[in-house]
Amino acid sequence: MSATPERDQRSQESFEAERPAHTARKLKRRRPARGQLSTPVLLRERFERLLPPEALPWALGERTPTRVGLRLHRLSSPPQESLSSLEALGLSPHLERPQTDVYSLPWAEREALTHAPITSEGGVYVMNPSSTLAVEALAPQPGEEVLDLAAAPGGKSLMIADMMCDEGRLACVEPVKGRFFRLKDNLKRGRVNIAQLYLADGCAVGRKVPARFDRVMLDAPCSSEARVRLNEPDTWAHWSPRKVKETSRKQRKLLRSALESVKVGGRVVYSTCALSPEENEGTVTDVLKRFEGEVEVLPHHLEGVPSLPGLTEWEGQALDPRCERALRVAPNGLYDAFFLCVLERRS
Ligand code: SAM
Repeated sequence: MSATPERDQRSQESFEAERPAHTARKLKRRRPARGQLSTPVLLRERFERLLPPEALPWALGERTPTRVGLRLHRLSSPPQESLSSLEALGLSPHLERPQTDVYSLPWAEREALTHAPITSEGGVYVMNPSSTLAVEALAPQPGEEVLDLAAAPGGKSLMIADMMCDEGRLACVEPVKGRFFRLKDNLKRGRVNIAQLYLADGCAVGRKVPARFDRVMLDAPCSSEARVRLNEPDTWAHWSPRKVKETSRKQRKLLRSALESVKVGGRVVYSTCALSPEENEGTVTDVLKRFEGEVEVLPHHLEGVPSLPGLTEWEGQALDPRCERALRVAPNGLYDAFFLCVLERRS
């Protein structure tokens, strides 16, 4: 498998810095043309159409989150010991999702949580509870063969290995070198023995190993709209409708690859932290057409999460009606905006 150069959100600043000076000047000079809406206006308008009013201040970053999420990682430390370590620091985690050891703390305690010894030892992994929902829906079992097709920095791979009790095989794919090594470090700290890591392009995996895996997680590279804060231009500087379209093309290739690599009867979970229908239901609609009669959308219910059904229409265009079975998480100060869809390979 060959590595594809890809830049994530975090490395985009350096991407800008690498441009020749004259290009950078041109970019700086670019202003919305008369009659053209600025990015913050476009984003606000889009989010207003996609979310209930109470979720908007969170989605636009006008309110600071109220809580920070974390997951206890059993392979590194027994849950009771991890909790005691946090409590010894004066922190009192609140249980959010009992099946998956997901807790939360007041937002003001996130620094203390990040720097807690149990966090650096791997017994605690700081992650938004929305991210854990995708792995909860994947429901990996000990002894299975599972693929994480876009794996770095590894929050979901760690959780998958934990749910598999480190029994079976977990293949983790990531094409960006810096992120690949971060993934490797995180899995080592999390004492995961069942993972095999591939520095590779996920789009080619389905062709290379067709019908191989029991379950496939595709937490796709996306426009990261869940991280938008309108008063922080860095969080939306690279967003545009054109970029959303470009990203959705890559997501379609990755989701096709995921569906090719899963066994008949196996499950694929597709997730993003984007709100754009083009990246979510649009991607699902595309693969349902391509895998007509071979793939089905499974209904999925989430207890205690502010969620909405997937869209079946966007901007006058019909989407596959089965997209209604997908879930859109509306941000609420604890859960970030998120999309997830559970697919099953039928033949
Ligand atoms: N699942 C990860 C976690 O929970 O820690 C987060 C994944 S992040 C949303 C998407 C990842 O996909 C990024 O690390 C990005 O570098 C990677 N990626 C980008 N292009 C890819 C490709 N063609 N194949 C596989 N992964 C890709």
